[in-house]
Amino acid sequence: MKKLLAVSLLIALLLCGCASNAPVEREIFAMDTVMTVRVWGDDSDVAAAVSEINRLDALLSVIYENSEVYALNRDGEAELSFDVFDLLVEAIEVSRRTDGAFDPTVYPFVELWGFTKDTQALPSQREIDAVLPLIGFEQVECDGDTVTLVNGGKIDLGGIAKGYTAQKVVELLQERGVETAFLNLGGNVQTLGSKPDGEAWVVGIADPENPSQAIACLRFTDSLALVTSGGYQRYFEENGVRFHHILDPKTGCPADSGLASVTVLAQDGAIADGLSTALFVMGIENATTLWRKSDDFEAVFITQDGAIFATEGAASLLTDCEFTVIER
Ligand code: AMP
Ligand code: MG
Repeated sequence: MKKLLAVSLLIALLLCGCASNAPVEREIFAMDTVMTVRVWGDDSDVAAAVSEINRLDALLSVIYENSEVYALNRDGEAELSFDVFDLLVEAIEVSRRTDGAFDPTVYPFVELWGFTKDTQALPSQREIDAVLPLIGFEQVECDGDTVTLVNGGKIDLGGIAKGYTAQKVVELLQERGVETAFLNLGGNVQTLGSKPDGEAWVVGIADPENPSQAIACLRFTDSLALVTSGGYQRYFEENGVRFHHILDPKTGCPADSGLASVTVLAQDGAIADGLSTALFVMGIENATTLWRKSDDFEAVFITQDGAIFATEGAASLLTDCEFTVIER
């Protein structure tokens, strides 16, 4: 029986200076993590944001028996409401562009390793091989709003749901006329607009060796989503070996790409979240190849030996550390 060590991602938010109007802030627990919603608006804006988070949590959870994802996994087929369908389509798009490094059908592996439970255990190769045919985003078939999992597999949107939720909350706040907000949904950070006092947003990247400390900071002034995937965030240990929660869908084992963490910066929260998981699986070389042919994200990589690499766009925001720039 192994104890799960869940280390929450450090987000060092330095809200210094005096804002012209003070933000309203609420901390909640949803999607199995602590979340902070900070809105330069009024109580009703924060309440709307919180209720949107809870609404999406209820639909997207792989664990809640009333969720649509749970029903799809249980029945192999389900008619999905707009958000679940929309997110599943986005998840499959991330799968395609990352050659399956991100794959929402990874859930049978997540279950096998026990990451949905309080206890984890090392599966045998035979158990992994038995599950392998269930994995593959090609087995998700859509007919209108009805989705079928053709091989009897199961989906898990946990690698992208928080980013999608942050994106939806930002859009909702914009519709309500809010110009400035800061969301930290369990390490998925998303900002809306510039701080009223003109100061930069400052978001720390956790040191994978010492996650309560920042190893670097990103400073920027406008809307941005920043999501970190790291092997230190959720793992168990057996005989001194660490087994983390980001699985390589091709092997069924924790990804071993030489990276300790990846932080993805993007305008869209779901893309940042899906890609952070995918790039962690792909490793720095394949991730760089993908970045060179994309124009919708930037990334900061921390290798297992502690070196920091940043794509050009991320490099221009990165401070308080030494790093190597990855050029186009
Ligand atoms: P994140 O923290 O965003 O990197 O997401 C990690 C979570 O996504 C895990 O706890 C699993 O629920 C799920 N997951 C693990 N590996 C993958 C993968 N290769 N593709 C998609 N989801 C994954
Ligand atoms: Mg992710």
